[in-house]
Amino acid sequence: MKCQELQSQLHAYRDGELDLTSSLEIESHLNECKVCFQVNDNLKTLQKALRSDALRFQPNPDLEARIRSALRREARGAGTRVGWRWLIPVLSAAVLVIVFGGYLLTRSPGDDLIAREVVSGHVRSLMTPGHTIDVVSEDPHTVKPWFDGKLDFSPPVRDFTAQGFALIGGRLDYIANRPVAALIYERRKHPINVFIWPAAGGDTKAVAQVQQGYNVIHWTKSGMTFWAISDLNLAELQQLEGELEKP
Ligand SMILES: [Zn+2]
Repeated sequence: MKCQELQSQLHAYRDGELDLTSSLEIESHLNECKVCFQVNDNLKTLQKALRSDALRFQPNPDLEARIRSALRREARGAGTRVGWRWLIPVLSAAVLVIVFGGYLLTRSPGDDLIAREVVSGHVRSLMTPGHTIDVVSEDPHTVKPWFDGKLDFSPPVRDFTAQGFALIGGRLDYIANRPVAALIYERRKHPINVFIWPAAGGDTKAVAQVQQGYNVIHWTKSGMTFWAISDLNLAELQQLEGELEKP
């Protein structure tokens, strides 16, 4: 089974809509293919996030009572005096529900969701020794060509051993619904993952945040999005960001 074919059936698979043979075929592919495994894993995370209560709109508890009493007034003929004014709060609430619901459906995964995917990518790479790095080399001339044919872009690969950030190797990962390059650097035994993929907009300044105890820095430069993550202190991670931002 080809990756593309599998990924087109993944939603149906996750919703339990496939027959047994197809499901088994998909499961065996997921066991062997790291990229599709990531896609499935990310879909799982997304499904979980969408089920969260935070995304549910809770109308004011007295809304139902207000609608009912307004309807009663209308039925009694008192509506002639009250006019259509009672409709304003009801319609506002309805518009709010529609607009908010539409916003949730159309919104692309935001930076917050990506930051969480970056953390899980980093944690996953630490938890599965041997899978941390697909190509082990401190030589950018070995790491960069390794990505050829595996990605539809060529990530900038540089070594910063002289600056205290040794390039260890590279890896494929799957973040923000696309395959991305992961470069692994090391500083005083602290592993650092730098995730890179093509950016839609122009350059953006680096933004630092703490996600689940990890320092995460995100910026966009020369058409590429960068997410650096480590348990290293922020000042040192910013130092690596500075090196990566140098032309
Ligand atoms: Zn695959």
